[in-house]
Amino acid sequence: MSSKESNPYENAMKQLESTASLIKLDPAAHEMLKSPKRILSVSLPIKMDDGHVKNFQGYRVQFNDARGPFKGGIRYHPNVTLDEVKALATWMTWKCSVVDIPYGGAKGGVICDPKNMSTAEKERLTRRYTAMIADFIGPYRDVPAPDVYTDSQTMSWILDTYSQLKGYQVPECVTGKPIALGGSEGRNNSTARGCIICAREAAKQLRLPLKGATAAVQGYGNAGSWSAVFLQELGVKVVAASDSSGAIYSKSGLDSAKTLNHKEQTGSVVGLEGSEQIEPEKLLELDVDILVPAALENSITAHNAGNVKAKIISEAANGPTTPEADAILEKNKVLIVPDILANAGGVTVSYLEWVQNLNREHWTEDQVNERLEQKMVAAFNASYEMSKKLNVTMRSGALALSIKRVADAIQLLGIWP
Ligand code: GLU
Repeated sequence: MSSKESNPYENAMKQLESTASLIKLDPAAHEMLKSPKRILSVSLPIKMDDGHVKNFQGYRVQFNDARGPFKGGIRYHPNVTLDEVKALATWMTWKCSVVDIPYGGAKGGVICDPKNMSTAEKERLTRRYTAMIADFIGPYRDVPAPDVYTDSQTMSWILDTYSQLKGYQVPECVTGKPIALGGSEGRNNSTARGCIICAREAAKQLRLPLKGATAAVQGYGNAGSWSAVFLQELGVKVVAASDSSGAIYSKSGLDSAKTLNHKEQTGSVVGLEGSEQIEPEKLLELDVDILVPAALENSITAHNAGNVKAKIISEAANGPTTPEADAILEKNKVLIVPDILANAGGVTVSYLEWVQNLNREHWTEDQVNERLEQKMVAAFNASYEMSKKLNVTMRSGALALSIKRVADAIQLLGIWP
């Protein structure tokens, strides 16, 4: 991360600063929100399959818990940095607040390259990481979940390690679990479902008919690939998709099932029959109606924002647009559904999973999706209305709404001692 623009924590703090002046944030709450409540930095010695021991670095950042237990995923990626985890923990706090679920925000990260690790190595890493943070997590303390390159299997190892340390089974200590271990129906594709609900509501506001509209999806992991499925269900033609190996384009549209199948068979979307390869940067600048950035932070920057032609951006990823790019897109009247809202479907169904676990219940997929739909539409409308009321972008509206809720909770709790 070289340029200033690409430090995600600086970007998160810039957002806090501008929101603070916009809503005249209480100075004491503002002061408390300038840094995370707790940062855990852990060293993780792992016996690799060839017998040698390798030390990995891991973090868990607990940003704020005024509204409820800390909540947020764990990311495995070679480029994880403490500043990135701090930013993601900040955004989790706003995210849980904007959809009005009773959680604070946290995030975990381990610097590792999961693509080049065996399943056994990943299991040992996950169990050691869990053991190192076990005293600071738990169903009423901090509830982890999947994020980039972690999945329901990772959550199963966390559940087992935590439960063994406690001496009894604690399914509600983690979300994003497999169904067989108390996971929720619908959790697997909930981030994308929420993201496309937001794109649909945004299209309504712009009076843009979705049948025959076009879209590009950057990133084809869980959020990206399911976003393509839901866009297609709405009659939108997904003309471009990408992953870390490259990008593809088809004027007549990429079939979401075939694209995912190709990625599962070959490891990438590149080479899909009937598609042509394009430069990954070009994907963001295509003449499409909807753009779904579903990769990592800092995809849309001051360098390329001026070339974005999409009318709607629904941010499935966390932090894909820098504040500098935001200003350009605002001038160009692009409607951005911000990450803290557009990708909140994942944590919303995590919350529904936790509620089911605490009550020892299991709901049907329809029950889960119905609640998700209600939460997302309500949060979209509240953020949209706030942006109109304050005459600001939807990102600023959503931040205003969510930061105000967190600040209100902080004020009511007071400072002790
Ligand atoms: N990692 C996801 C996110 O960034 C989900 C978090 C969760 O379910 O707790 O929102």
